[in-house]
Amino acid sequence: MRTFPDAKSVARAFEPEEPVILNRPHAARRAARFFVDRFPGKVLYAVKANPAPDLIEALWNAGVTHYDVASIAEVRLVRTALPNAVLCFMHPIKTRSAIAEAYHQHGVKTFSLDTFEELDKIVDACRDPETGDPASDLRLCVRLRVSSEHAQLSLAAKFGCDLTEAPALLQQARQHCDWLGVCFHVGSQAMSPFAFVQALDRTRAAIAEASVVIDMVDVGGGFPSIYPDLEPPPLEDYFQIIHQHFYALPIAYNAELWCEPGRALAAEYSSMIVRVDKRRGTELYINDGAYGALYDAAHVDWRFPVVALEDDLRDGEQDFAFYGPTCDDADYMAGPFPLPGDIQAGDYIEIGMLGAYGAAMKTGFNGFGDAQCVIVEDEPMMSLFDGSRRREASDNVVSLR
Ligand SMILES: *Cc1c(COP(=O)(O)O)cnc(C)c1O
Repeated sequence: MRTFPDAKSVARAFEPEEPVILNRPHAARRAARFFVDRFPGKVLYAVKANPAPDLIEALWNAGVTHYDVASIAEVRLVRTALPNAVLCFMHPIKTRSAIAEAYHQHGVKTFSLDTFEELDKIVDACRDPETGDPASDLRLCVRLRVSSEHAQLSLAAKFGCDLTEAPALLQQARQHCDWLGVCFHVGSQAMSPFAFVQALDRTRAAIAEASVVIDMVDVGGGFPSIYPDLEPPPLEDYFQIIHQHFYALPIAYNAELWCEPGRALAAEYSSMIVRVDKRRGTELYINDGAYGALYDAAHVDWRFPVVALEDDLRDGEQDFAFYGPTCDDADYMAGPFPLPGDIQAGDYIEIGMLGAYGAAMKTGFNGFGDAQCVIVEDEPMMSLFDGSRRREASDNVVSLR
């Protein structure tokens, strides 16, 4: 990948007719170091946020040794990029062949589950193919259903067992492993650390009811990044609250604490250059959209930061909406996206904070989806990790309910 100082120099060098993804490995390394240094436990990268091998290597080089994978393709991808990484298969519904390949060929020992059927499937798929003996080194993790009320994107409906089912499932899973964990996900972009308090309260109830020994508590993802409408409290507040509530759980004295950030580690990694192909009033027709890296901008009205890359625009800012390149009316991003009022066809725009669930979600629908990738050395358009968001001393105490 070629390296440039910033988005403007890329636009000048290529005058690209297709979108260009701009990657910032330094920003990913900085986010990873922040989590590795300050989260009071082990940090797994949730690969689905962005599976780009260059990103995964940047995270590894910054100290992230464990990876949350959800499909056999993600298992193979991370295993190829990082032969020594610890992979944890954290999708609660897996195929038997995916489990067997992960365990027997890629050294995956940690699997999550939320039903008795999945427990049986895992135990069976990991048997010794010769002797039929059950695996003695499984590490199982029961996924609990928790609320998504503080999150921008819910993960509450689909996965996780209820408090009524959890105790029996924990007891049953304990029969098949020497290392048993509990995991959950509070929903993505959780805007309050209290999301984790509620979830850890549920965890406490499930563990107490089951009265089994718990070796690990995995608080999942949900750690926020920063976007124009979404400025979260400092991540240190999340870490501190999680730490306190973790210590109050009825678990083994040497139990581990894990987290699985996706968005928070990846968001600052990528931005994208798009070109305006047509202007109609305050609507700009650009060359990426709902089926490209702007899925969330179209489908959940996410506002990403934007900046025009031209030097000759003189007018003040005005609010624009975007149309993407496909022939579908739904390929529309309402924004609003503030840009100079005299922006026109042929001009370039940088759209920021697309490293998580943006760049990774580009499709080839309707023949659009090509993008080259380059490295840029400037700062991401917004950052939680560049030191600009130091906490006020007076603001240093998190009030606990
Ligand atoms: C998506 C996902 C994550 C990452 O979530 P973020 O909100 O991006 O941090 C972590 N764990 C699991 C099981 C997931 O499905």
